[in-house]
Amino acid sequence: MTNRIGGNEGDGNTSGPSDPPGVRRRALLASAGTAAGALGIGTLPVAASDAWSTPDVRGVGCAHPQFTCGRQVTAADGMVSSVDPIASGVAAGVLRDGGTAVDAAVALQYVLTVTQPHGSGIGGGGFMVIYDADADAVDVIDSRERAPRGATADMFLDEDGDPIPFADRIRLGEAVGVPGTVMGLETALDRHGTRPRQRLLTPAIDLASDGFPIDGVFAAQIADNWEKLNDAATAAYSDANGRPLTEGDTHVNPDLAETLEAIERDGPAAFYEGDIAADLAATVRDAGGSMTTDDLAAYDVTIDDPVRAEWNGVEIVGQPLPSSGPSTVASILKLLDCLDIGRYDRRSPAMYHLVGEATSLAWADRNEYMGDPEFVDVPSDALLSDAYLEERAALVRAGETLADYEAGECVAPGAPSGVEPVRGPSPDPKRGSTTHFSVVDADRNAVSYTSTIEQLMGSGLMVPGRGFMLNNELTDFDAVPEGPNKVAPWKRPLSSMSPILVLRDGVPEFTVGSPGGWTIITSVAQTLLHRYVYGLEPLAALSEPTVFTTECPPIMWEDGVPARAREATSRFGQVWSDTSSGDIGNVQVIEIGDDELRGAADPTRDGRAVGVDRGRPQ
Ligand code: GLU
Repeated sequence: MTNRIGGNEGDGNTSGPSDPPGVRRRALLASAGTAAGALGIGTLPVAASDAWSTPDVRGVGCAHPQFTCGRQVTAADGMVSSVDPIASGVAAGVLRDGGTAVDAAVALQYVLTVTQPHGSGIGGGGFMVIYDADADAVDVIDSRERAPRGATADMFLDEDGDPIPFADRIRLGEAVGVPGTVMGLETALDRHGTRPRQRLLTPAIDLASDGFPIDGVFAAQIADNWEKLNDAATAAYSDANGRPLTEGDTHVNPDLAETLEAIERDGPAAFYEGDIAADLAATVRDAGGSMTTDDLAAYDVTIDDPVRAEWNGVEIVGQPLPSSGPSTVASILKLLDCLDIGRYDRRSPAMYHLVGEATSLAWADRNEYMGDPEFVDVPSDALLSDAYLEERAALVRAGETLADYEAGECVAPGAPSGVEPVRGPSPDPKRGSTTHFSVVDADRNAVSYTSTIEQLMGSGLMVPGRGFMLNNELTDFDAVPEGPNKVAPWKRPLSSMSPILVLRDGVPEFTVGSPGGWTIITSVAQTLLHRYVYGLEPLAALSEPTVFTTECPPIMWEDGVPARAREATSRFGQVWSDTSSGDIGNVQVIEIGDDELRGAADPTRDGRAVGVDRGRPQ
């Protein structure tokens, strides 16, 4: 995926010699969509599964009638949609054996630590949104990284008091947060799992010790981040001659296999206490950070009440603060509802104008008010209230912009009644990339999980002898120590990750999420817009070109956004980036019907949806 705001993403289009023909599907859909939009046809036809994508993946036989694999597939008894075919296959195998969605998600995340270490892993954190069908309840497990207790408000300022340039900040030991993923997975398993941790870790351990051929995205991330990687990482990701691994090379990581075996044996204590914790803290401190073994021993997840917002006859349910994601997604969609966006064609100038303006309004409030709710009072309910959003939407005008973007003006935040604005600094655009996956089981338990080490390859620091990468999540704090998202000891940085379950009549019918830093919010909001307002099939909904902006345009855009729409909106003051940003985001979804599940994996990387039909012949 080429994610221009995502800086170090590399060429994630990843079209290459080994790409199946379906990998450029976005371009195909984009051109088909242009034609459909122009003719007013509406919903794009999407094949039930891609013919190319049926070869076996490790963990399942895709040709086996009990599994269906592809970019979009249908199945009755279970569905996994992730960025990695191996991980999707392993998780589908867990579902096939009667495991719950959480069992499968835990196995999947451990596999991703091995097969996609550039995007997520045990050195990072994340947010897992779980629907428990028996309890008829949504559980949100927040394993966001925390700043060590030795962190200081000015740790990202230089001696002159200026912010350390972002490109340098991302490599600092100070950027590494206390990781949460292992505790998050264990907590999810305790609360919703049925399988022992030992069995769920086996596939990841086998992959780390036996090896597997790396894909084009992993190879590109090794090459693109080579300068950032420490010696342990370059050794792990190079061949016997010391050259960076390339696509198709076998990657074996015996150190990581041992680390995972220790977790398999002793659970989170193996990670948060003892030798691994000591090595982790020492690696961070050697790079200038303050993390101690006490910080690691003190880490725990929080179990949060989800954000809930009524929209378009459904309920958007997701991770609350410290992620700004689901609430900002809901704000954008509710503003668009107030503006009756469905009146306009899907690729019309008016549609893009309204999406840009609604995003800018929501973004201005996000940056003004949001931070870790353990440290700041955020008027979350007021910001999402119908009365406030109607007032904000009423500011939008057809044919003219909210501010003079051409003169560099930005959209101002609002002030819900009774709320004092708290002007913070203008944050750096947050760049990074992570992974999102969704799992649904036969009992309709559902998991929507976004998991990260922040930037691709995180801080570039691998814990020597332990085989895993460390995050640089604390760069999500504002460097200038003002406003709600400034650094403080034990605080969690503001996130944009948007793991969401859409509920209808209290029951999940859609799961969605994406990587992409700030662009996560717009990728997820527009996927929901395309599915629910424009009626596109799940794969078409996530493939439809998106735009991204903050309270300060220009608007970034994907290929497929028509030139005539950009030209027309420019005439009333919208400012667009000169060139397309390539692909933005990597959205994974599952749609949950009464009798069938439909999974779709974003073609911008090599993702795969794998479905389970247990009742079908062996
Ligand atoms: N650090 C980002 C956030 O929490 C996630 C990483 C990404 O950009 O995908 O918003």
